[in-house]
Amino acid sequence: MLVIERDIARNVELYDLSLQAAADGVADPQVMALPPKIRSEVLFDRAASGKYLGSIFVMNERGDIILDSRFIRARVGNFADRDYFTFHRDHGNAGLYISRPYASRLRGGALTIALSRRITRANGSFGGVVVGTLSIDYFRALLDGLSVGEHGTAAVVETNGTMITRLPYDRDVVGRDIRNAPVFIQAMSTNEGAFTGTASIDGVRRLYVYRRLAGLPIIVDVAPAETDIYAGWQQRARRLAVLTAVFSAIIAAGSLVLSRELQRRQLAESRLTRLARTDALTGLCNRGTFDETLQKEWKRAHRTRRPLSLLFVDIDQFKAYNDYYGHQAGDEVLKTVAQCLGLCVRRPTDEVARYGGEEFVVTLPDTDPAGAMAMAETIRCAVYDLDIEHVQSQHGRVSVSIGVVTTQGRAGNDGTVLVKMADSALYEAKSGGRNRVCEAQRL
Ligand code: GH3
Ligand code: MG
Ligand code: MG
Repeated sequence: MLVIERDIARNVELYDLSLQAAADGVADPQVMALPPKIRSEVLFDRAASGKYLGSIFVMNERGDIILDSRFIRARVGNFADRDYFTFHRDHGNAGLYISRPYASRLRGGALTIALSRRITRANGSFGGVVVGTLSIDYFRALLDGLSVGEHGTAAVVETNGTMITRLPYDRDVVGRDIRNAPVFIQAMSTNEGAFTGTASIDGVRRLYVYRRLAGLPIIVDVAPAETDIYAGWQQRARRLAVLTAVFSAIIAAGSLVLSRELQRRQLAESRLTRLARTDALTGLCNRGTFDETLQKEWKRAHRTRRPLSLLFVDIDQFKAYNDYYGHQAGDEVLKTVAQCLGLCVRRPTDEVARYGGEEFVVTLPDTDPAGAMAMAETIRCAVYDLDIEHVQSQHGRVSVSIGVVTTQGRAGNDGTVLVKMADSALYEAKSGGRNRVCEAQRL
């Protein structure tokens, strides 16, 4: 942008110097009195010649060409209709005037702009104009050297809103009046700056960086499209988003697998714990669990001075049952009796356990002797009422004998003493004829 700016400023300045020299010379009668060849050399120095620069013409106050820098005999033409001519005619000494682009009549219709200065006679009246032409191709070549991205643009615009040229080049855009375009209005607000705006020509959003050339009525802007600026960034963002999504999915899947595994493990562990605490045949608590419960309840009874009762339940003549009905039938009876016992106890703290073989223990915390005897009696009756045939028994059906013991929480030692006492009460019940309840002496 800086290079373009300098190039335009330098060329226009040099060209303007030539125009000024010519305008001053034409106004000087001495110069005009010189022979044509020398006069031409004096008026038109050779500095302002170049690929894109045309002849310098001098026109009289009627718009006729009277001098031509390239030919001693000036080409014939009247340009009184051109804006540069009417401008100088009507405006006094207004300095350098840059015309709207037009199709040059002398250069085969090539798009051109004219740089012109007024010839002011000694008395101040309008004496014609000095005009130099600059091909639009000059600006076009300058902009072509810019890289503005696929959808970017660059433009050279006159401060009156006339488009000199634009990249990408379009002949129809040259000379267009963009005075009312929002982008132009914004670029006119300060001498230089940057803003994002939407082009009125094609509706694309771009980042405009613009500068007004010092001392000249020309603005140069370079405007890469937002899509081009953010394209790389967006691609990286998209890639990152995909990667993030993939990693999140992996983490989510991993968490799911892990939580399932943990759940399975927890389930297996709780099953193992349950198995470790229960008796496989009857589903009741096993001996180990009973021992723990007894110790715990024994200590609690001691602490709280509350009674603790224990029932020792033994199936009568079960060996004979097995022998007569078979071991499998015996197992069924064990299961049925166990279930019956479980149904008899009601409090959540009561616990029925299989002590071993055909013997069961019922722990009854906070239960006094009367309550324990009542519970024992309930159990005895309940088993009896199952009415399971047992021809080898003196009672004709499966029955149980129960030893009952209660501690008032005052005894020392540990819970095993309770078991011993309940067992001896049970022995009494057996010797007393079975299918009965016996209470041990109280601790
Ligand atoms: P009592 O009336 O004096 O208690 O006589 P009993 O035959 O019940 O007593 P004993 O202690 O002599 O015999 C217990 C029998 O219980 C021995 C065994 O055949 C049987 N038994 C122990 N455990 C099981 C078991 O898991 N399944 C089966 N089917 N029988 C068992
Ligand atoms: Mg027994
Ligand atoms: Mg028995």
